[in-house]
Amino acid sequence: MALKLGVIGTGAIGQDHIRRCSQTLLGSQVVALTDINLEQAAKVARDLNLTAEVYADGHALIQSPEVEAVLVTSWGPSHEAFVLAAIAAGKPVFCEKPLAVTAEGCRRIVEAEIAHGKRLVQVGFMRPYDEGYRALKSVIDSGQIGEPLMLHCAHRNPTVGENYKTDMAITDTLIHEIDVLRWLLDDDYVSVQVVFPRKSGKAFAHLKDPQIVLLETAKGTRIDVEVFVNCQYGYDIQCEVVGETGIARLPEPSQVQLRSGAKLSTAILMDWKDRFIAAYDVELQAFIDGVRAGQVGGPSAWDGYAAAVTADACIEAQNSGAIVPVSLADRPAFYV
Ligand code: NAP
Repeated sequence: MALKLGVIGTGAIGQDHIRRCSQTLLGSQVVALTDINLEQAAKVARDLNLTAEVYADGHALIQSPEVEAVLVTSWGPSHEAFVLAAIAAGKPVFCEKPLAVTAEGCRRIVEAEIAHGKRLVQVGFMRPYDEGYRALKSVIDSGQIGEPLMLHCAHRNPTVGENYKTDMAITDTLIHEIDVLRWLLDDDYVSVQVVFPRKSGKAFAHLKDPQIVLLETAKGTRIDVEVFVNCQYGYDIQCEVVGETGIARLPEPSQVQLRSGAKLSTAILMDWKDRFIAAYDVELQAFIDGVRAGQVGGPSAWDGYAAAVTADACIEAQNSGAIVPVSLADRPAFYV
């Protein structure tokens, strides 16, 4: 029997996830939708030809006996209440990042899940499902380059809108590196610093761009991440791991190599959705399969909490210029 999903939030990523669950992935059926804008939810159901009921709000959807598992794809500040309600109802829940907008909110979810006694929450960090990052992790875990000592990373977007503020370089952009590098190294961060190079003339006046975020891990690995969201030329994700005996690089997305007009070239993607489209499919399929097998896996509520604590430290470091400690609580045995 297909897993009956209810989706809260039918905006951009909500519609993408509804489409992939109904048209691409196996083993699920979207039976319930809601959005703050009910007309939009009804339109999505019509446009995608779904036999799905539109509920008055997220809490009514979670309570419905028709809904076996919940996808939370609404606005970030609404996530915590919906995830807590799903846990209280004993229903598995896939929550887009952020798990909650504060570290304390993430802790409340962690505590509710521990009290429930079984994992119910998967956080929508998709990079650990990207083929390239998985290949990179296999090389690191195999010991072929020895212990990782340094990482040089970049997260570049062609442009951002005027509403993108300096702290969003952390909460909306770096947040993916914060999660995936912790997973890649199987390590936690202990301190962060943010430095601002010469500002790009292509950025809006209010935005400090680019930024360099320096992270130190508990094992002593040093990471630099360049966040440059007006780089103009493409959406470009780089990750180079320098180990004791060699260097491993995140593979480039596969693109046709072109010989034309006296040039040898490969295209660079312009849109983050194209770069990680396969990873979104794999992460949601893993959620569906995990729920059907009675075993939710993937990025956990604890990972959501660790990301929130690290992001808070990065924002403090942006404002102070200082090296800021990342103070994580002790990891509960439940998440080891
Ligand atoms: P969006 O297009 O603004 O969609 C959010 C939708 O949720 C909107 O339709 C919004 O309605 C609705 N909404 C807000 N509060 C709600 C509530 N209390 N109950 C029901 N619906 C509510 O934003 P988005 O780009 O899809 O992003 C949604 C979430 O996904 C964000 O947390 C974002 O960070 C995350 N996201 C993650 C990734 C990733 O790479 N993993 C990528 C994109 C987005 P209104 O527009 O009327 O407010």
